[in-house]
Amino acid sequence: IGLKDGEKTAVSQSTDSSNNLENSKENFESIQRVRKTLPAFKARSELLQIIRDNQVIVVIGETGSGKTTQLAQFLEEDGYCNGGQLIGCTQPRRVAAISVATRVAMEKGVKLGNEVGYSIRFEDKTTSRTKIKFMTDGILLRETLMSTMLEKYSCIIMDEAHERSLNTDILFGIFKNLLAIRRDLKLIITSATMNANKFSQFFGGSPMFTIPGRTFPVETVFSRHPVSDYVESAILQASKIHLSSPVSSGDILIFMTGQEDIEATCAGLREKLSEINTKKRLGNMESTELNDIEILPIYSALPADVQGKIFNCTPNKRKVVVATNIAETSLTVDGVKYVIDCGYSKLKVYNPQIGLDILQIAPISMASANQRSGRAGRTGPGIAYRLYTEDSFFDDMYVQTIPEIQRTNLSNTLLLLKYLGVKDVLAFPFVDPPPEQIVMSSLFELWTVGALDNFGKLTELGGQMASFPLQPSLSKMLLSASQSGCSEEVLTIVSMLSVPQIFYRPKERQEESDQARTRFFVPESDHLTLLNVFSQWKANNFSSAWCRRNFLQFKSLQRAKSIRDQLRTLMEKKRIIIVSSGTDWDIIRKCVCSGYAHQAARLSGLNKYVHLRNGLELRIHPASALFRAGDLPPYVVYHEMLLTSNEYINTVTAVDPFWLMKYGLLFYNVSRRREDVEDSGIYADESPERIKDNLDLSIEQCMMKKEI
Ligand code: ADP
Ligand code: MG
Repeated sequence: IGLKDGEKTAVSQSTDSSNNLENSKENFESIQRVRKTLPAFKARSELLQIIRDNQVIVVIGETGSGKTTQLAQFLEEDGYCNGGQLIGCTQPRRVAAISVATRVAMEKGVKLGNEVGYSIRFEDKTTSRTKIKFMTDGILLRETLMSTMLEKYSCIIMDEAHERSLNTDILFGIFKNLLAIRRDLKLIITSATMNANKFSQFFGGSPMFTIPGRTFPVETVFSRHPVSDYVESAILQASKIHLSSPVSSGDILIFMTGQEDIEATCAGLREKLSEINTKKRLGNMESTELNDIEILPIYSALPADVQGKIFNCTPNKRKVVVATNIAETSLTVDGVKYVIDCGYSKLKVYNPQIGLDILQIAPISMASANQRSGRAGRTGPGIAYRLYTEDSFFDDMYVQTIPEIQRTNLSNTLLLLKYLGVKDVLAFPFVDPPPEQIVMSSLFELWTVGALDNFGKLTELGGQMASFPLQPSLSKMLLSASQSGCSEEVLTIVSMLSVPQIFYRPKERQEESDQARTRFFVPESDHLTLLNVFSQWKANNFSSAWCRRNFLQFKSLQRAKSIRDQLRTLMEKKRIIIVSSGTDWDIIRKCVCSGYAHQAARLSGLNKYVHLRNGLELRIHPASALFRAGDLPPYVVYHEMLLTSNEYINTVTAVDPFWLMKYGLLFYNVSRRREDVEDSGIYADESPERIKDNLDLSIEQCMMKKEI
């Protein structure tokens, strides 16, 4: 769409809703002009007609054609909110939910949170006046627990359905029954071309509507040789493009896997270009500032205002957006002519044999690769540079990405289904059923934490766990804290674990910030370190200046505080006791241990650990408080595991093996000692010291026995 520069600037006035009136009127008019140029707009009346005539519709359209931003507005204009009901639109990603809601509020010239709002976990920006509500699919799934008929909605748009996120897939199954009862509810599924047929079949052959759109040809250039470092190659490729073609020829979009390599690419590209500038200007003292390029990262942990920047217009500058696969279909950056694709993405993969969720950097699918390339051809012909060989495209990549439901731990999801009253989860109507092995091992996990009884029925504890919007290990920890008398503290820990990046580590001041961080360290526990940070912040009146001085992210802490308040309210509602343990922090560590007993490791060698359930070799992440404390503790539990070049465990707490035996009895059966203790409670007649001596052995034996 050939926008004139002036229009583009006006449209892209970013997310600030406090523009003065005159400005916003002008804005509003030019936005409306741009709206009308979108392919979705041209199909408006046809679309509305087919929606009036059918209950379920699959809408297919090129990315950027206006599905996400326009559809909900069309429906509202067509009167679907007149009866006081809402139009809901789900997104698999939080970033997208916020960004799209912001955009639509701006297009309609209303304040975000009123007529147009959004809701993501722990953050509800809607009011009773809201008509269009964007939300993550996880939020809608939770809402079905509270109100199974979803009465308050007249239409639901399930956006980005082709992504096949776990929650979207589960919602499909739920809708299958729900739609038969609520005949007045419209379901609109939007999808890229892939999978559309499957969705239509799933809902009994519902009609598919394709938004006609125009795309331009994209030339794909494969790497001739395998690339050893894709960050470096991306930097090289981007600088080559930048130096050899005029800035006005188009922007660059680089696909990376996550925050670390995105930041590395941004920094590396800046460095490389300044270096070249310096060489060019050798001899004179001109600055080496990069004034013809704007390098912008985008990933989910980035604050919303920084994320919004990718839409800003950059006159006389080339924009380089370095993104995760969020830019594959969710967000469209206009004006991209060059795409650089590293060929990988971060994928959460569950291995039911070893019972672990592992975050892995894995090759993307062919469908994703083509989708990524396509981003270069939206406003004119483009070029996609693939940082992998043609051979590896055909040999290493699946045709399509495996749906999340077939590759992740389902314990959280199955807990919700049980809560919804689904007795036989294997008989649930799945679009694609998960492998039985994953279902069984996830059910096993729920049984080990006490959420299910021996017959697979939800226990009281399980019911309580399901009512918290937290992963099972965290809700378990919180509930057991209430019994052992430290729920105030564990409430803080759980909230702090629910926000990204507490510590701030700017590149130029790394040493200083690392030192500041160590001042908060509680040597035996990262969980207690988080508690310590929060308590000190509280003691300093939740001050932002104090955060700045101590290299802490004020916004993250604020968010943790808000999450804490929300969870606290929920606990009060459920009459779960909230008490403080005062200065006794050992009780807290015990509680932490009870939540993570299945995620434990034993020291083996100088600084290596082995996972107690599967023998995987692990290292504690270098940023951990334990790492700095000198001698590493013999036993630890951990919050999460990250698989990169090394297996790292993150957020770790030292535990007593005796606690592990107590809380993890199901995993670490005391094979050698069992005869001695049959029916008599655990080691009733032994001294604690002797028990510990024997524990090492027992756990080790158990590990070897389960050799996996
Ligand atoms: P689809 O959902 O079909 O992929 P969208 O509705 O997301 O398409 O996008 C339609 C158009 O709106 C695109 O040109 C996109 O660049 C633009 N757009 C979306 N969000 C924003 C935003 N926050 N700021 C500026 N433009 C936006
Ligand atoms: Mg979209």
